[in-house]
Amino acid sequence: MGANLIDGKAIAATIRQEIHNEVDAMREHHGKVPGLATVLVGARKDSQTYVRMKKRACEEVGIRSFGHDLPADISQDELLEVVRDLNANPEVDGILVQLPLPDHIDDEEILGAVSLEKDVDGFHPLNIGRLSMKRRDPLFVPCTPKGCIELLDRSGVSIEGKRAVVLGRSNIVGLPVAMLLLHRNATVTICHSRTQDLPEVVRQADILIAAVGRPEMVRGDWVNPGAVVIDVGVNAVDDPGSERGYRLVGDVAFDEASEVAAAITPVPGGVGPMTIAMLLRNTLDGALRRIG
Ligand code: NDP
Repeated sequence: MGANLIDGKAIAATIRQEIHNEVDAMREHHGKVPGLATVLVGARKDSQTYVRMKKRACEEVGIRSFGHDLPADISQDELLEVVRDLNANPEVDGILVQLPLPDHIDDEEILGAVSLEKDVDGFHPLNIGRLSMKRRDPLFVPCTPKGCIELLDRSGVSIEGKRAVVLGRSNIVGLPVAMLLLHRNATVTICHSRTQDLPEVVRQADILIAAVGRPEMVRGDWVNPGAVVIDVGVNAVDDPGSERGYRLVGDVAFDEASEVAAAITPVPGGVGPMTIAMLLRNTLDGALRRIG
């Protein structure tokens, strides 16, 4: 392997320690700790796991978490009421509504009801709108895209003036990460399922962010020699030899790409740990802002 490994697990551990120290200082100076409310609707196993991980991460850094586990058949109005109560609760600095919500729920209305000041996921339409405009700072930036930029910054990768290619245009990852790169003065190309000559476009990238959800789609010969590769994808592929019967791979063929790239994130252990670290960061920032 020629590329430097961008160790998201280690970088996230450093960030969590920084947050822990700041939370301790807040408790000491203001007699307050940040609070995160998680809202989980229904019993999807993956959502339950994500929420559990987020709550545990909160505990580890001294952030209080308030769990709201709600039945899958909750009505739109009842769910709105929960969100409004949390908006009014002074102990809650951040509200995380775990997605996806059940089909009968209008998630746009629910996400739009979260107070702007507590929108730690950064999915409120106003925060996304501000992210998409020049010289308008959103109160919060979505966690996974923010984690990608943090990985670049903490690995000493300069973004300004670079050619960045983002694979994927979802509201959660592709679009916001492209906006963040643009704000940092990269020249950004966004690719999607209708992009023609995809390998050729990807080969232009000094910085490649892959967020398509297609196992190992990006081959080594798509990667520009010397590029920095951030692999957001998390895909389970069959692996009868392993205990669980599957293993996780990214959107990039790691072994091939790491022979060509200058630096690359692994999956798992790259972007994943950063997403939770950024949620903690956003919650702490929300609390700091509320203290003034
Ligand atoms: P979505 O399915 O919402 O979006 C996928 C995007 O990839 C779409 O824009 C789609 O294009 C594009 N795409 C799909 N297939 C192709 C293809 N063959 N060629 C080019 N573009 C393609 O996924 P998400 O953005 O939510 O997630 C992407 C990946 O990141 C997933 O593996 C997910 O598990 C992972 N993820 C990881 C997180 C982490 O913390 N590590 C957090 C969030 C996501 P089009 O718009 O045209 O359909």
